[in-house]
Amino acid sequence: MEKLSNPQVTIETIKKHGFDFQKKFGQNFLIDAHVLEKIMDAAEITKEDCVLEIGPGIGTMTQYLAERARMVIAVEIDSKLIPILKETLGSYDNVQIINEDILKLDIEALVAEENQGKPIKVVANLPYYITTPIIMGLFEQHVPLNNITVMVQKEVADRMQVGPGTKDYGALSLAVQYYAKPYIVANVPPNCFIPRPNVASAVIRLTRYQEPPVKVQDEKLMFRLIRASFNQRRKTLVNGIGNAPELPFTKEQTAQALEQMGLSVTIRGEALTLEEFAELSDILGSLS
Ligand code: SAM
Repeated sequence: MEKLSNPQVTIETIKKHGFDFQKKFGQNFLIDAHVLEKIMDAAEITKEDCVLEIGPGIGTMTQYLAERARMVIAVEIDSKLIPILKETLGSYDNVQIINEDILKLDIEALVAEENQGKPIKVVANLPYYITTPIIMGLFEQHVPLNNITVMVQKEVADRMQVGPGTKDYGALSLAVQYYAKPYIVANVPPNCFIPRPNVASAVIRLTRYQEPPVKVQDEKLMFRLIRASFNQRRKTLVNGIGNAPELPFTKEQTAQALEQMGLSVTIRGEALTLEEFAELSDILGSLS
């Protein structure tokens, strides 16, 4: 059977099953073989790998993964897609389809069971409405993984990889860069999908660090400080942290910490590097 990356095959499959696209599930199916090859190469899939695919749709990317990986676990929320997947992936014996909401699944338990707790690779053309919770969930729950290679909204890919002093820099950049090294693999225009999304897309690979690039005493406190300083982006860091009800630090304490670090007391959060947030967190954490 010809692959679903051939647009004609995708159109016929959808028609045959009378499938209706669900906007609420962020369904935009890939129809570009070149982009799919690029994703496979960037993810560095080998016959040793156990791959988790989030949202297989009708199985377009799954077909590529099944040919390259040892095993593929594909988690799809839309039950209407399950019979289609059974058909389009019928000739592969290394694909397991799970009809679940990825945000509700205990991925760590799944990896323990299916891959003896060894690191997996995550590959997906993500539903854009839940990109951040999916990626942060994988990192924060410490799912054992080598890398995450995903199609996301281009603007979100940019946010994940920029450094301080740019408008895209924020809590997501810092969180992603604490856990992984980002690399933008390709920009992907709307005409590579059915139906076409309203936004430009990009493939980004996040290679998980064995050890975070900065050392911090209290990871949770650092992320609370980061969130507080970007919640009020145009305020100074001193005001952002001072005004955050969930943080116990006074404006004076934050100002003193900044002085100790050799930074201006009027600096904004968007000017601080990850290393500086870690240092600030250690100074403020030692006060309580
Ligand atoms: N992988 C397919 C492709 O590239 O053609 C489909 C990608 S489409 C952008 C996103 C897929 O994620 C859809 O099939 C959608 O139903 C599924 N999805 C949406 N929310 C989900 C969730 N919470 N858990 C699992 N799958 C979800």
